[in-house]
Amino acid sequence: MPKITIIGSNMYELTTFTDHLPKRGETVAGYDFSEGFGGKGANQAIAAARLGADVDLLTVIGKDYFGRQQRQNYADNDINSAGIINGSRGSGVASIFVESSGTNRILVVKRANDELTPSMIDAHQALIRDAQIILLQQEIALATNYHVIELAKKYHVPVMLDPAPANLELDINYVVQVKFFTPNEHELAAVTGLPTYDLADIKRAGQTLIAAGLENLLVTLGSKGVLWMDQHHAQLIPAFPVQAVDTTGAGDAFAGSFAYYYTMGASIDAAIKFANQYAALSVTKYGTQRAYPTKKQMAKMDL
Ligand code: ATP
Repeated sequence: MPKITIIGSNMYELTTFTDHLPKRGETVAGYDFSEGFGGKGANQAIAAARLGADVDLLTVIGKDYFGRQQRQNYADNDINSAGIINGSRGSGVASIFVESSGTNRILVVKRANDELTPSMIDAHQALIRDAQIILLQQEIALATNYHVIELAKKYHVPVMLDPAPANLELDINYVVQVKFFTPNEHELAAVTGLPTYDLADIKRAGQTLIAAGLENLLVTLGSKGVLWMDQHHAQLIPAFPVQAVDTTGAGDAFAGSFAYYYTMGASIDAAIKFANQYAALSVTKYGTQRAYPTKKQMAKMDL
């Protein structure tokens, strides 16, 4: 069973479904609402755990009702509890607005997630040392992510970094140290400062990271699939065609499932192909974690 450590955020999601979003000062009646579990770190952990990985999630949960629900959710999904830390602040929350077209807007308040500091990482070093791969995103402090990258280097453990959301200024010196860097096209533009309007642009922007020493760049391109670039080639691995109803959390489904297939021994291109299938199935249902298939459900698809 692959041993995967995911370090990052958890959020309680409050999702509103609406035909259109209100303009400033306007009130609009949405047509549905749901609450659920999210946060990029937690989402990636759930995806990997549902596929059967031995998952440690290092995250700080809020000191409130939402936090208690989060802890129960990890237990229900067989995620190890050693890294689930009780915070002193309220839970991180994500207000999500999904339009009928399937596009989404997400407003995140991190709260307890800001308590995941480098010293907490030091106190849980064994979770880094003993992992086959470490997954990071950008909903916790950058200093914490940098510290993890340094420790993982010390222990020779590969890191996969998803620079989402693209609201922090990433230091390229850290980016080039990870084994897999997985931006979407907007995040790639933010990191490189270059346009990413079409595939030629994306390759040009990606090439600057490869030239700077990055080993593998996986640009997630929604329904187009994933562009994989390394020191030798660039290859577009097409998405698995489905009718999407809600693409929220597709990037996390991709990251968690890629880590699982890769640590199970798949080659990088095979792991991308499997993860494309996993993420595609997740966009055929509403919600983030609730839409992530289990290993059994994947097997039933007979892909
Ligand atoms: P998010 O931040 O919403 O989690 P993202 O922008 O990081 O997502 P996307 O590129 O939208 O990630 O999606 C990740 C992967 O999910 C894609 O590379 C693809 O494999 C799959 N995917 C997303 N949307 C679709 C779709 N409409 N049809 C098929 N596959 C999809």
